[in-house]
Amino acid sequence: MPDGADGVSLSARGAYEGILRRQSARESAARTYARALPIVPVRARGLTIEGADGHRYLDCLSGAGTLALGHNHPVVLEAIRKVLDSGAPLHVLDLATPVKDAFVTELFHTLPSGLAGHARVQFCGPAGTDAVEAALKLVRTATGRTGIMAFTGAYHGMTAGALEASGGAPDVRVARLPFPQDYRCPFGVGGRLGAELAARWTESVLDDPKSGVPRPAGMILEPVQGEGGVIPAPDAWMRRMREITSARGIPLIVDEVQTGVGRTGAFWAVEHSGITPDVMVLSKAIGGSLPLAVVVYRDGLDVWPPGAHAGTFRGNQLAMAAGTATLSYVRANGLAARAAQLGSRMLAQLRELGQQFPCVGDVRGRGLMIGVEFVDPEAEGGRGCWDEGGESVGLWGDEGAGLPRPVRAPGAGGPRPAAPELAAAVQRECLRRGLIVELGGRHASVVRLLPPLTISDEQAAAVLDRLADAVATAARAYPGHPPRPHRPHGTDVRQRRQNERAERAGWRGD
Ligand code: PMP
Repeated sequence: MPDGADGVSLSARGAYEGILRRQSARESAARTYARALPIVPVRARGLTIEGADGHRYLDCLSGAGTLALGHNHPVVLEAIRKVLDSGAPLHVLDLATPVKDAFVTELFHTLPSGLAGHARVQFCGPAGTDAVEAALKLVRTATGRTGIMAFTGAYHGMTAGALEASGGAPDVRVARLPFPQDYRCPFGVGGRLGAELAARWTESVLDDPKSGVPRPAGMILEPVQGEGGVIPAPDAWMRRMREITSARGIPLIVDEVQTGVGRTGAFWAVEHSGITPDVMVLSKAIGGSLPLAVVVYRDGLDVWPPGAHAGTFRGNQLAMAAGTATLSYVRANGLAARAAQLGSRMLAQLRELGQQFPCVGDVRGRGLMIGVEFVDPEAEGGRGCWDEGGESVGLWGDEGAGLPRPVRAPGAGGPRPAAPELAAAVQRECLRRGLIVELGGRHASVVRLLPPLTISDEQAAAVLDRLADAVATAARAYPGHPPRPHRPHGTDVRQRRQNERAERAGWRGD
């Protein structure tokens, strides 16, 4: 069979094009990832997916952050095979089994110490959203109250209760509070001041008898908002939320569906701030690539009656075995620390890249949860704090080093408008270069990287090369916006930019 220009045989091309055609003809209009990623994966290992077109892709979507060890990691495959070969039942509702016993033991081993000693675990339906529903029901039952406090930009899932608590859906049962962020700070200041103002707003809503928000059954938050645009919550703000909720008898639910199992540079993201939540919602990586979700909570909340949260699919033995293997591999191999170290290196390199392209509005993240926000380079406004304060900026982790967070100068202009078309173009250009990335953020203008924690230095370099190339091409095609020639970091460059911004804002006359 003759080859096409791209080396793909015509019969192979016909086969995968047929699959894609049938997908778009038969599957729901609500399908998501498949629209931006028209590929047909047939094999995968680690970071790499091989498509039916014969092309290889570096997968920085990782099953929406599920694949802590990448695709088909040998320890995961071995654990699954062991269960299959043992003749154990694959489906057992919520009955006790040795496989489940091992999973819970390993899970409890990893829990924050404040919770581990007196935790209960509820197996629920296999998706993150199921665990969120269970958590909301748990705290409503335990407190006898109804309302939930949640945050702007939150994402907790697609079932009714989880959706109510997510940023996109207004609902009277959920009170929406400001989530702190630097680049698009709702108070226009960012940094510690912005986080403190957000905390005070929460406090005042709770303490003002006329705020219109009765004492809630619980507060739910993500330690790093993933779908919301990769926005890490400051550690100090997390501690404030813990203090505020503890002082008022409000259970704090931390949604670690995406941040858990080493992703952010700690095994659980709550460890960065040192807080002990009342409830943790876990899914994605805990199933080692297979569907599994649980709620872990302090035993004092365990007052719901038998059957209060039931479901047929709570006993997936293969997922528990794969999950046990994943949790123990991440723990034994220090992959959380590796994510922290590699993640901050990648962030630094991406910020270098951002210096070359005015269309890069912000670069942020924690561990191997990284986001690059694209903005309209022509519009008025500033960039993320990372280009204003040298090494001390951009990472909430810097807080631990005692470095002050920069705060946007009053009047220096807010962030530039988001550029979702540009982000989509970057995603397309990445795919053409064999790199799979996801989009997220309030305006779908954030390119997200969620590589497996096992990614090597060489692979990380290849990812960044492809991304840089994709940004250059997409930026060139964006009408009239040539890339800025690269200059090394330096006070002069920063100073010049600060002066430019100051002049634009009219508070510098010289
Ligand atoms: N919570 C968070 C923080 C998530 O990121 C997600 C999924 N992206 C969910 C909940 C919902 O998980 P699922 O898609 O498995 O229902």
